[in-house]
Amino acid sequence: MPTDVNLIQLHNLKKSYRLGETVVNALNGVNLKILEGEFTALIGTSGSGKSTLLNMIGCLDSPDAGEVLFQEKNIHTLTEQQKSELRNKKIGFIFQSFNLVPVLSVYENVSLPLVIRKDLSDSEKQNRIKKAIEDVELSLFSQHLPDQLSGGQRQRVAIARAIVSHPKLILADEPTANLDSKTAHMIIDLLLNLNRKNKVTFMFCSHDEKLIGRVDRVIRIQDGQIQQ
Ligand code: ADP
Ligand code: MG
Repeated sequence: MPTDVNLIQLHNLKKSYRLGETVVNALNGVNLKILEGEFTALIGTSGSGKSTLLNMIGCLDSPDAGEVLFQEKNIHTLTEQQKSELRNKKIGFIFQSFNLVPVLSVYENVSLPLVIRKDLSDSEKQNRIKKAIEDVELSLFSQHLPDQLSGGQRQRVAIARAIVSHPKLILADEPTANLDSKTAHMIIDLLLNLNRKNKVTFMFCSHDEKLIGRVDRVIRIQDGQIQQ
């Protein structure tokens, strides 16, 4: 459930890409606040700027102009090391194509974000990994490889990998685009349950209008601008 605490604030965010002679304005002055605990869908057609915006929020790319504040702190002022710590500890990512490592088991894939964590004991790590796999109902598949799983199951592994670091925010870029519509709704329901149960803030983007039924807030983006 949304609180009244700001998690993310975007101020006049701009980003353009140069393709030879042409300049594509992917973000045209985006202002936005995301509250802690919110479950938000960013909806827009292909090319509207969804991925660019998620990458800015997730500290994967930097804007040409404007500011991104994470918990009231301007991420522009962070060193590279602080940024990578922010990405590792506070932000989880889920991608359309799942991005699992094919030679690693479900358990090993989920463990990846914790490998570099020196602040957690081995037993704490094991508990978190087991719990994350339980949360996505894949305990019976811990030792399976990704190619032994269905698309929906693979995306659940990716969700477990995103929640295992207990992030404040999970960003999902078209998480259901490669799934049939029944599985897509199951994935959104699972994300919603995790949001309600674990209080993690979620933002997913999609071009699919049918997915917006149960979210707290729908944000529409068109030509790099938020539609009011
Ligand atoms: P969406 O995720 O909504 O499909 P994107 O954020 O990927 O939209 O893209 C927004 C616009 O920026 C599009 O016109 C796209 O072609 C362009 N764009 C995105 N990434 C790049 C890039 N790396 N180089 C050039 N143009 C890009
Ligand atoms: Mg995209």
